[in-house]
Amino acid sequence: MTKIYIDAGHGGSDPGAVGNGLREKDLTLMIAKHTQDYLKGYNCSVKMSRTNDKTLSLAQRTNDANKWGADFFLSVHINAGGGTGYEDFIYNGVSNTSKSAKLRNTIHSEISKVLTKYSITNRGKKKANFHVLRETKMPAVLTENLFIDRREDANLLKDDKFLKDIGQAHAKGIVKAFKLKGGSGSTSTSKPSKPKQSKTSKSNNKQTSNYTGDSIVDYLKSIGQPSSFAHRKKLAQQHGIKNYTGTASQNTKLLNALRGNKTTATSVKNYIPRTFKVGQRVRIKSSAKTYSRSNVPIPSKYKNKSLTIQQVGKDDVLIKELYSWVRKSDTY
Ligand SMILES: [Zn+2]
Repeated sequence: MTKIYIDAGHGGSDPGAVGNGLREKDLTLMIAKHTQDYLKGYNCSVKMSRTNDKTLSLAQRTNDANKWGADFFLSVHINAGGGTGYEDFIYNGVSNTSKSAKLRNTIHSEISKVLTKYSITNRGKKKANFHVLRETKMPAVLTENLFIDRREDANLLKDDKFLKDIGQAHAKGIVKAFKLKGGSGSTSTSKPSKPKQSKTSKSNNKQTSNYTGDSIVDYLKSIGQPSSFAHRKKLAQQHGIKNYTGTASQNTKLLNALRGNKTTATSVKNYIPRTFKVGQRVRIKSSAKTYSRSNVPIPSKYKNKSLTIQQVGKDDVLIKELYSWVRKSDTY
């Protein structure tokens, strides 16, 4: 299987470039995670130099990739020093027909699409004698994604959608360059095609639960529905349970009826939206399938874990730890 090593530049005690309230180390990690996320649906294995705010020397990064036997090394950086736009580098000791050069060409053209979309200057394909390009035993590319000290660039770097687009473009380039197979993440995030959309709304309506206990309250919580008496009374009515007063036998009947899944559509229609606030902790349901703004499957290791809301959208929330949007209906 193709081994892709993704290096989020800087980290820990080394913030990289700073400007406009941003730190390079945070942005490189967010972009790298979007690249990693997108590649999850493909037949490759991905290793990250870091997945959190950790200090790593340049030698630690290249040694790690060499030891792992990576087929490709991608290093993600943000530029600074007066300028604007995007550029990427391969080692200045390799030719224009080298594997690094060919891989870079493919990745560069995928990223160019995002540059065009956001009217970003393309500073071109360059060569340099950087440690991570020189000391890696496999083909290596380093990308410089906009200038942190340029206001217009920084505004884009503050935009989660842009970070996702540019991160995914890195991944799309890798998919093309290595002819990787698979890919539920190959659909554009901004404009899903019609069949994909109906698939999404279908999975939205289907409220399944892994809860196997006897408590109606816990069951309702597990499917993201209110557990109040009023709501239970309404559900009881829909399921033909008359004069619901909340007795144990009525609750058992209701629980069985709900598990029978006969009136899922009705119960979803009557679902009272919960409130979502920035900083609030939520968990992703086991039944959640894909992120809300892409068709990338949510890895099960992120499910049923306490996570933080960073931003609230109309129907979805941005999860701080994942740098990704998740449907409100997929949380509890
Ligand atoms: Zn850097």
